[in-house]
Amino acid sequence: MSNDFLFFEPVYMERVWGGNKSRSEFGYDLPSDNIGECWVITANEIGDCVCTTDEYKGKTLTWLWENKRELFGNYDCDRFPLLLKILDAKTDLSIQVHPDDAYMAKKDPKAWGKTESWYILNCDEGATVVVGHNARTREELREMIDSSRYKELIREVEVHKGDFIQIDAGTIHSIKGGVMILETQQNSDITYRVYDYDRLWNGKPRTLHREEAKDVTVVPAVKEPAFKTSDTDPIVKLVSCKYYDLFKLNVKGDLAIDNDAPFRLVSCIEGSGTVNKKVTLKKGDHFIVPSGIDKLEFNGEMTLITSVPGKR
Ligand code: ZN
Repeated sequence: MSNDFLFFEPVYMERVWGGNKSRSEFGYDLPSDNIGECWVITANEIGDCVCTTDEYKGKTLTWLWENKRELFGNYDCDRFPLLLKILDAKTDLSIQVHPDDAYMAKKDPKAWGKTESWYILNCDEGATVVVGHNARTREELREMIDSSRYKELIREVEVHKGDFIQIDAGTIHSIKGGVMILETQQNSDITYRVYDYDRLWNGKPRTLHREEAKDVTVVPAVKEPAFKTSDTDPIVKLVSCKYYDLFKLNVKGDLAIDNDAPFRLVSCIEGSGTVNKKVTLKKGDHFIVPSGIDKLEFNGEMTLITSVPGKR
């Protein structure tokens, strides 16, 4: 079995709220100036990234998952479990909430809920995001949504570069204009739109899913969801949940970590360097560490975000 790291071609998604900052920030070859989302590690019917590593050049991640599961430690799951994206919001996204697995299972046994997390890569001075709500009871949540008291309902928090936010399923959330994030999430795309700031798109408001939102939103919301992450500690744990464990690595010189994960995702979000003395890394690179590589030795001046899938 190959011990090579697996690199992929990103899949670019145009969005009405998207910008073009990934071109200047990460050197991506964007096909337009409204690329809201770069799906950098993805394997689903909407976006399937193609491997650029020699041995598997041209194969999609779904193909690798289905035919070379040993690369992923024979991880038992009907699909690649994670999805990694960079989002660049030029304007505000609509406010939404995702269901959890239990809610989706009742609708469709194959569908998943969606838990996600955000690492703030960059943002304008004073930028904010929406995370959580102010309703104290489900009754109050229903009333506020029914009477469109959204400004009262939603909770907005100021964010800064390097902040991290876990968005569990059932959390009302939205990225606002001027914010760029690295999103690590469950490989699912089910979204209920709560509010779209009364905007019109091509003369029409976008459909809202108020009934579903009233059902799936967790009440009360988590109090202080965002925190600043260290830029100096070598290994910073960001979150551990059912779906993933996430770490930030501040590489200043040499940094080695033991790796016993079935597979691991790594993103270089700042700086440059090498891994295991053979592969060079620069800002904007993302790769999968296949099964069987028990040590990762990084060298250079760089910031990495790394995730491993939840235990199954
Ligand atoms: Zn979301």
